[in-house]
Amino acid sequence: MNDQSPPPPSLGCRDQPVLKQRGQREVFCGLTGIIWLHRKIQDAFFLVVGSRTCAHLLQSAAGVMIFAEPRFGTAILEESDLAGLNDAHAELDREVERLLARRPDIRQLFLVGSCPSEVIKLDLSRAAERLTQQFAPKVRVLEYSGSGIETTFTQGEDACLASMVPVLPETDARELLVVGALPDVVEDQMLSLLDDLGIGPVRVLPARNIDAEMGVGANTVYALTQPFLSDTHAALTRRGARHIPAPFPLGEEGTTAWLAAVAAEFGVDAETFAHVTDAPRRRAQQAVSQAADVLHDKTIFFFPDSQLEIPLARFLTRECGMTALEVGSPYIHDALHGPDLDLLPAGPQISEGQDVDLQLDRCRAAQPDLTVCGLGLANPLEAEGLSTKWAIELVFTPVHFYEQAGDLAALFARPLRRKTKLGIAAA
Ligand code: SF4
Repeated sequence: MNDQSPPPPSLGCRDQPVLKQRGQREVFCGLTGIIWLHRKIQDAFFLVVGSRTCAHLLQSAAGVMIFAEPRFGTAILEESDLAGLNDAHAELDREVERLLARRPDIRQLFLVGSCPSEVIKLDLSRAAERLTQQFAPKVRVLEYSGSGIETTFTQGEDACLASMVPVLPETDARELLVVGALPDVVEDQMLSLLDDLGIGPVRVLPARNIDAEMGVGANTVYALTQPFLSDTHAALTRRGARHIPAPFPLGEEGTTAWLAAVAAEFGVDAETFAHVTDAPRRRAQQAVSQAADVLHDKTIFFFPDSQLEIPLARFLTRECGMTALEVGSPYIHDALHGPDLDLLPAGPQISEGQDVDLQLDRCRAAQPDLTVCGLGLANPLEAEGLSTKWAIELVFTPVHFYEQAGDLAALFARPLRRKTKLGIAAA
C-alpha cells in the first residue's frame, strides 16, 4: 500500500531482550486521565470515590478547569463513612442522587475507584449496576479503577474505555472502530482522511456523547490511536472484533503506516492512497524538518511513564535524527507495540517497568542530551544539568496525525533550544 514497508525484524527492536524492572516507580495514578476524558466525552461525569488526596490531585492537575463547568468531582469518604460498608454504599447512592438531581445534562456517570483500602473493598461494580437500574434509561452508570495501586497515568483512559466495551450493542455491520481519546480537532482531521480514502462507516470510541451510534461484533475491525489501550484491546477482542496492527499515528511515517494498514484492510488502491496522503505527507515532512534541526545527532533517554515512549522513540530516531539510549515503558504488549518496535532502529536498551534508583543511575551514566520523564524526576534531573521533557505534556498536547507532526518535533526541540539560549546568555 505505501512505500514504507517495515525493515526486517533483525533491524528493529522487536526481538531484542527487554530489561524487566519491578521496583519503585515514579508515575501519576490513573485518575489523571479524567482531565482529558471529561473534555472528550461531553455528557459524562466522573465521580471519584476517594480521599482528599484524590480531590487535591484532580484540582491541581486540572487547574482552572474545575472552576469552569466541572464534569468531575470527588465523593470523599470520611472515616465515619468507612466504619461500615453498608453505610458507605448508602452514602455513595445519596451522593449520586444529589448529583444527578442537580445536573440533568449528565448521561453517563463513571464511578472511579481509588487507593484507600476501604474504597477498594467497596464493590463499585455492584454499585454501578444498582445505580444504572435506578437511573436507566436516562443515565448509564459504569465504573473503573483509577487507583495508583492498580493503574499508572494513562491506564485510567484504558480502564475507562474497557469499561464501556461490554455495554456496546451487538452489531453484524462491517465497520471501522477507531479507539482512543483524541482532541476533537485531531479526530476531525483523522475522520476526514478516512472519508477521503473511502473508508466507512467509522465509529470512534470514546464517542463525544452517548447517543452516537456504535456497536461491536465479529465484523468490527478496530485500530488504536493510543499505545496504552491494552485492556480495551482485550475487551474488544473478547467481543469478537479484530485488531488492525499498525505503528501509532505519530509523525509523518507513523501516520502514513497507520493509514496504510487501515486502507489495506478496506481494499483502498495505491493511487487513491497516494492522492489523499501525498500533500499532507509533504507538509508534515517539511514541518518536522524545520522543527527538528536542533534534534539531529542528539541522544534521548525515556523513563517509563505514558506508554507513548516506544512510538515516540521510533519518531524521534527515524524522522528527527536522534539516537535513543534507553526506551522505558511501563508495559510492553507485542500486539500493540510490536509494529513500532519493528521500526525502531536496534541499539537502545528497551526496558519495561521501573526500579527508579537503578534507572536514574543508568541515566546519569549515559548523560543524554534529553530525558523524557515524569514531573517528579524532571526537577532533580534539571538541577543536575540534564535537559528534560515532561511526559505529561505529551498527553495534553495534540500530537497525532500529519498536521501535528511538526508540533510533536517542536515539543522535544524546545528544551534543547532553551538550554542553548541559556548557555549563550550565561557565556
Ligand atoms: S487514586 Fe491513589 S494515588 Fe491517585 S490521588 Fe487517589 S490516593 Fe493518590
